[in-house]
Parts: sequence; structure tokens; C-alpha cells
Amino acid sequence: MREVLLVRFGEIYLKGLNRPYFLRMLVDRVKSAVRDLGGHVWLSDSRVYVSDLNNVEEGIRRVSKVFGVHSLCKAVEMGKEDFGAICRQAVEMMKDCKGSFKVSARRSDKRYPMDSPRINEELGGYVLEHLPHLNVDVRNPDTVLSVEIRDYAYLYTAAIAAVGGMPVGTNGRALLLLSGGIDSPVAGWMIAKRGVAVSAVHFHSFPYTSQRAKEKVLDLARILSESLCGIRVHVVPFTEIQTQIHEKCHPDYTTLIMRRYMMRIANAIARKERAQALVTGESIGQVASQTMHSLACTDAVAEIPVFRPLIGFDKQEIVDVAVRIGTYETSSLPYEDCCTVFTPRHPATKPRLLTIQAGEALLDSDTLVAKALEDAEIFEL
Ligand code: ATP
Ligand code: MG
Repeated sequence: MREVLLVRFGEIYLKGLNRPYFLRMLVDRVKSAVRDLGGHVWLSDSRVYVSDLNNVEEGIRRVSKVFGVHSLCKAVEMGKEDFGAICRQAVEMMKDCKGSFKVSARRSDKRYPMDSPRINEELGGYVLEHLPHLNVDVRNPDTVLSVEIRDYAYLYTAAIAAVGGMPVGTNGRALLLLSGGIDSPVAGWMIAKRGVAVSAVHFHSFPYTSQRAKEKVLDLARILSESLCGIRVHVVPFTEIQTQIHEKCHPDYTTLIMRRYMMRIANAIARKERAQALVTGESIGQVASQTMHSLACTDAVAEIPVFRPLIGFDKQEIVDVAVRIGTYETSSLPYEDCCTVFTPRHPATKPRLLTIQAGEALLDSDTLVAKALEDAEIFEL
């Protein structure tokens, strides 16, 4: 007899011909999550199992964060031949429960001499007899005692909800524009939850933005890294571009022109990363550069789709996710971002693309972009 984790995944994504591929990826992801806890991970009968963890609670915490895992339970694995032993174990597991219960049996091993209704009945009867303070309620029980008969018998009473989504890497790669703010880490996390591997680019404007501001962004990337299965961050110097925009372009358009340069540089980094989309933390109307008109102007320079998973979120909804995924506190540290350097007083909210392009014509775009790319630093986190 031993304790194992039973890991469940969403059924919907796993049907059809891709199922073995998704499962393999999921096993790999769970393996990496528990590697340093000594965990043994295997797949059997379309179910992922984890055993031999030297820290079970930490193992549960980590596995529940692996994208693709929908729930998990701490189960007792034991031989299935001795039904009496299964009954005694059930009593042991139920003895501190109160109120009502039901037994929910599943028999994958169809050669097992008892079918599921019979297991429910016999096991339920045994528990009731030995724990008379409990009563049976099959409709709305306080506790469900699950019994699965596979190669072994598995008994468990509680499922722990996990993050859901799909295993990272099953759905291509995207490049996240990662600022030090609240929104973009959440956007990256949401995209990764759908199975997309994520690389990141951060623009910093030293000395207008400090070394601490850059460290803060790398800290955010480190927090995301666990869920994202590692992240490569390109840190791109943006001071020269911002200075030139500030000197040469009309102040109403500087923010938007700056954002278009971010996109141009992101295009090039996405090519290097083989990323198929860009991701930003924008939501409609949050600031002047995120009006419908402004977003269209920004998109006009993107060479690949731009995904904005927060597009319809209110700020509070974004904050709620940030708190849940553990980025909020770091995001809230008060370091400046390059967007707050040279902020115009009256940024255009209905910019015309032609006007923006005319402004940009005053700059030597190719040289500026090439230089920024040349001086980028790369961090593997
Ligand atoms: P956030 O909380 O993500 O900083 P925000 O509300 O402050 O968002 P903006 O500053 O306008 O909004 O930025 C919008 C998006 O542009 C960000 O979500 C991010 O994807 C990208 N972005 C902004 N600044 C940077 C930066 N310095 N480096 C990389 N991407 C950036
Ligand atoms: Mg920002």
C-alpha cells in the first residue's frame, strides 16, 4: 500500500488522434514539475500517476499549477484482490468524516469479479456498519469515497482543483511584450494556459528607467517561469528610440509611435524565436494608446497576429488574476516603466494612421531598430 497522486486532465482536448501527443506532453510537464522532489511519474490507462514524492504537499502545489492538469487527488494505491482490505482501508479513510457519504466505484478492469454497483453497495454497507455516525446520501453527499479498480485499487475522498488549460508547448509559441506592470504578466500566463510556449521581450530606457525596474521585470518573468516551463527574456534598450521620438515627433503621437517601434522590434525577435504571434496586456480603453483607433495603428506594423487576452477585462478582473498567479505584489512595486518616461499631456485617442506615419518618416527607423536589436540582452529564466 502506498500514497500516490492521481492526475486528471481535461477530456475535451484529448480526444482524437492528438490524444497520445497531449498525454506525452502532459507527463513531461508533470515530470519537470516534480523532478527535484524525487517524484516518479508515469502514464497508465490514460491516467497520470505520481508517487515517491519526498514532499507531498509541495508536489501537490506544483502539479496543480501544471497547465493541462484539471484536478488531482491524493489516493491510496493497494492490491485489488483482497476486498476485505479495501473495506478496512475505506473505513480508515472515512473515520474522521461527518454527515453523509456515498461510494463511487469505477471498474476499468472488467475482469474484476464485482461490478461497480456491487462495489458501491458492499463497500457502502461495510463503512456504514463500522462508522454508524455516518449516513448514506447518493444525491448530495458531504463526502464521496471514490474507488477505482485498475491494475491496483485506488481509494480517495477529495479532488483538488487544478489550473486547467493545455500542456505548454502543444500549441506553438508566442512572444509576450512584458512590461513591469500588472497586465502583461497576466496576459502571458493566460496565453500559456492554452498550451502556447512563451518568450518575452522587455524594453527599458536606462537611465530614465532604473536597473531596479529591469530587475523587477526579470523577477516577474521568474515568477511566471514555473507555469510557463521556463522563459527567455530579451531585454532591448529603448532609450535612443524614445529620445528621438521625443525630439522629432509631435507630442500627441509620441506614445503611439513608441508602441509601433515596440511592435517592429517584437516582429524581429518573434522571427528569431519562431513565435507565431505577439501578446500584449492591452484592454480596450484602458489608456489612450488602447482605444480602438490606437490599437489599429499599433497593429498596422505587426507582421504576425497580436493576441490580447485581456481585451475585455476590467482592471479589477486583471488584478484578481494577478493576485491568483502571484505576480501582483511584484507588479505593484513602484518602479518606472519606459511608457511613463516622456508621457505626453494630451495623447491622441483617435489617431489617424497617415499622421502617425508622417511623424515616423522623420526618423531613421531601420537604423534605430537594428541598433536596438544588436544591443539586446538575453536572459534564460
Ligand atoms: P501593463 O500593466 O502590462 O504595464 P499598462 O496598462 O501599463 O499595462 P501600457 O503601458 O500602455 O499599459 O502597455 C500596454 C502593453 O504594452 C503592456 O501590457 C505590454 O504588453 C506592452 N508594454 C508596455 N511597456 C512595455 C515595455 N517596457 N516592454 C515590453 N512591453 C511593454
Ligand atoms: Mg505598462
